[in-house]
Amino acid sequence: MCKKSDKLISNAKEKGLTYLNRDEGRYHLYRFNDCGHTQKIRSDKVVSGQFQCRKCNEAEYQKEAEKHNLTLVEFKKSSCGNHVYRFNECGHTQEIRTDNLKFGKFRCKTCSEEKHKAAAEQYNLKIIKHLQSDKYLYELPCGHTKEISRSKVLVGSFQCQICDASYHTQPSKLYLVKMYNRLTRKSWIKLGIAKNIEHRIKNYGLSSFITTKILFEKDFETHLAALTIEQNLHSKYKDKKVDPKLMRQYMKSGFSECYPFSFFKTINQEILVN
Ligand SMILES: [Zn+2]
Ligand SMILES: [Zn+2]
Ligand SMILES: [Zn+2]
Repeated sequence: MCKKSDKLISNAKEKGLTYLNRDEGRYHLYRFNDCGHTQKIRSDKVVSGQFQCRKCNEAEYQKEAEKHNLTLVEFKKSSCGNHVYRFNECGHTQEIRTDNLKFGKFRCKTCSEEKHKAAAEQYNLKIIKHLQSDKYLYELPCGHTKEISRSKVLVGSFQCQICDASYHTQPSKLYLVKMYNRLTRKSWIKLGIAKNIEHRIKNYGLSSFITTKILFEKDFETHLAALTIEQNLHSKYKDKKVDPKLMRQYMKSGFSECYPFSFFKTINQEILVN
């Protein structure tokens, strides 16, 4: 055995490796004594200790991925921490940075974009363009454009300031809508005001198993007049309201103004005398 390979063998031994054979150029094949995996490593990197077992490293990433309900699909050799993962729940794949993975700071971009599009459609918004971070420019149902954050669009929480300015002086309706949960067979009453009740009901974003029926409506000459009565009733009966947390399970907007169905007569009476 020549001197050079003696050196390779002893250098390897010092670093917990077993020297196997020469591969190509400065690359040689080694076996890790601890785990038994084999790997091509440059001999100078063996001397400086700049190597790690890729298979073990990959297995560690796989374990970390599993913690977050992901599957590692592509372990990039040269990338400093960006690997490709599959979301077990939806099946989409995405590159995720290792530090973001560790802290769970990621979400499926594909699903998230689908949700965004669905919400925009539900609330009659046209996505014009992405502005920055969470902000987008939309065309509202009235035709005006507005900058709104995506999270607000997801829950349907936005309004047009231009239309709103003239809103108070326009006619409006005070209404009582019965909401019925077909699964639990429970009913509630929702008190609200709207120019167009059907349109407002659509904007509640109700679960598919909730049906609605308009039980009562009263016309007011101005939105402000209807609003005053509505606000008075809500504050007078604030202790009777259904827990918004419960209603939030079924509706995306308007969940804080619901009453038990048994309360219908009382509220209806109040509106009639007003
Ligand atoms: Zn290994
Ligand atoms: Zn997805
Ligand atoms: Zn508008």
